[in-house]
Amino acid sequence: MSELKSLCDITIFGGHGDLAFRKLMPALYHLSNAGYLDEKSRIITATRDSMSHEEHCDLVKLKLKEFLSDDGFEEEKFSYFKKQLHVVIIEFNADESYKGLQDLLNEYPQRERINYLSTAPDFFGTICKTMSHLGLVSPQSRVVLEKPIGRNLQSSHVINDEVLNYFDESQIYRIDHYLGKDTVQNIMALRFSNRFFMPLWDANHIDHIQITVAESVGVEGRWGYYNEYGAMRDMVQNHLMQLLCLVAMEPPCSLDADSVRDEKVKVLRSLRTMTHSDIKEKTVRAQYSKGSIDGIPVPGYLDGDNVNTSTTETFVALRVDIDNWRWNGVPFYLRSGKRMSRQNSEIIIHFKSIPHSIFVNQGKFISENKLVITLQPNESIYLELMNKVPGLSEQMLLKPVELELNTPLKVAHKPDAYERLLLDIIRANPTLFMRLDEVDAAWKWADVILDGWEEDIIPLKSYSAGTDGPSAAVQLIARDGRSWQDE
Ligand code: NAP
Repeated sequence: MSELKSLCDITIFGGHGDLAFRKLMPALYHLSNAGYLDEKSRIITATRDSMSHEEHCDLVKLKLKEFLSDDGFEEEKFSYFKKQLHVVIIEFNADESYKGLQDLLNEYPQRERINYLSTAPDFFGTICKTMSHLGLVSPQSRVVLEKPIGRNLQSSHVINDEVLNYFDESQIYRIDHYLGKDTVQNIMALRFSNRFFMPLWDANHIDHIQITVAESVGVEGRWGYYNEYGAMRDMVQNHLMQLLCLVAMEPPCSLDADSVRDEKVKVLRSLRTMTHSDIKEKTVRAQYSKGSIDGIPVPGYLDGDNVNTSTTETFVALRVDIDNWRWNGVPFYLRSGKRMSRQNSEIIIHFKSIPHSIFVNQGKFISENKLVITLQPNESIYLELMNKVPGLSEQMLLKPVELELNTPLKVAHKPDAYERLLLDIIRANPTLFMRLDEVDAAWKWADVILDGWEEDIIPLKSYSAGTDGPSAAVQLIARDGRSWQDE
């Protein structure tokens, strides 16, 4: 049970959409039942589906049963949660349709209000404007923005400026759900609460870093959305950049939101801007063609119904350099793709090799130490160290072993990333959310690459679904005498 129950009104715009049912409602159900929400708090679904309160509750119940990952559905718990559920019918573009929401919120004008915009970004400005004109935005209001925030720096400015007309930056929570994962937060815990890593975490001791976010799924019915964005905008500019920041940032002076975000933004500003020749040498973009995953044939990106030609990339590989003292000469290799051989999100810190081996004939078998942080499919952290193989062999035999660094504490319920993030929003803690200058800096760097691709500086490669991407990605890292961890 939590020590403090929050009393607030949470309105989910787009409340009958995929994200709301798959992630937000299960997260709120858990938070409510764990006692983080005062029982008088209200969870208001704004939808254009015309339905009664009872019909809405039945639908939420059905979806919870479908999406609660851990058999967490219990009738008794739902009866409690149901008391917090409300539904209002809203067409985002029709001001008059907000009347029901206005009446509901005005019952408690002093309450903290959370507006979760689980909608396409085209609606962010309209919703904020209408809410403000109806007097529903107060200093106690917060607004949550889902990705994607624009397709480039310019369109991101348009979206953010619209929201900033009605909300102060301190009231805006830009979600990157990767930051809600326990293991991602553990990167900070490992780095900044263990003396052991402190002297090793720089160019003197680290050879290079690999960050991979691979999905085996394709675009799953979201072709229209995905085709507008592609892997660079959908994954790299936000998720991979945030992971890179946590690995590369300097220790913040405290854990408060701005201290952490100040350090992250310094990393983003230190990313080396790519020249045309860098784009040729250090970037790979590719699209999957048909192939097979786990022995099952899957179509290519362009093989679906109503699909025309498209040059949208479903795979990206990059060598990224950070121009600061700590990381001088340490490449960060980033990869992300759809329809890869397996689902796998991993950060691997490759330490430098030992300067001299005393183990006769064993030198070539000594692998460098690695810190492996896995985010998906299962969260884990281990340190790869060399160890002696037990036995009496004449020469000492060595072998890499994995020293697990996972928290041994067993918890009854492992919170999903959205649970962590929603609770932080409820508590008004913006540490894990992207500040505007972070979004700007990430776009500024990514735009140069995207513009270069737009000019066809490098061709779009192809890879078969079910593989680890095109051979060009292997060459990208092989040119530096290194290889991807899975090779
Ligand atoms: P979605 O399933 O299409 O949901 C959007 C909701 O908005 C739908 O319920 C839709 O209602 C409603 N809506 C659209 N136009 C409206 C209008 N004019 N008036 C009132 N309601 C309207 O999309 P989603 O997958 O939930 O995604 C929501 C946002 O989160 C998007 O920005 C997406 O990029 C982002 N996101 C989603 C995921 C995910 O896993 N789904 C992950 C990360 C980020 P109808 O059902 O009536 O059309």
